[in-house]
Amino acid sequence: MAEKDLYDEFETITNQLNDISKKVSLLKEELSKTLEEKEELKIENQNLRKHLEKMGYEDKDFKGNELSYSRLNLENLYRKGFHVCQQFYGTHRKDKEECIFCTNVLYGSNDKGKKKKVKIN
Ligand SMILES: [Zn+2]
Repeated sequence: MAEKDLYDEFETITNQLNDISKKVSLLKEELSKTLEEKEELKIENQNLRKHLEKMGYEDKDFKGNELSYSRLNLENLYRKGFHVCQQFYGTHRKDKEECIFCTNVLYGSNDKGKKKKVKIN
């Protein structure tokens, strides 16, 4: 009888170990995914900062091709689900909800009725 109990216990513990082992691998996967995502976000954030600097955030007097290029990139980022506004820039837009500030940055007062749609691949 005692031997059977021991065997049962051994089996129980073995099963538990397997479970834990599975959970650990899952966690490991999730961790590396999270780290990857973090790196991506870091890069996106750096790019965003560069773009904002390039377009001179407070400067309302945009001009030249560089502007449309910068704005294109910002628009691109916005569509990917990031804020490009000063208030929240670089953070994820929850469920890609519209942001008034971002919209203002992208399509605000700067073009005088001349809305040119630019294609983004
Ligand atoms: Zn925003």
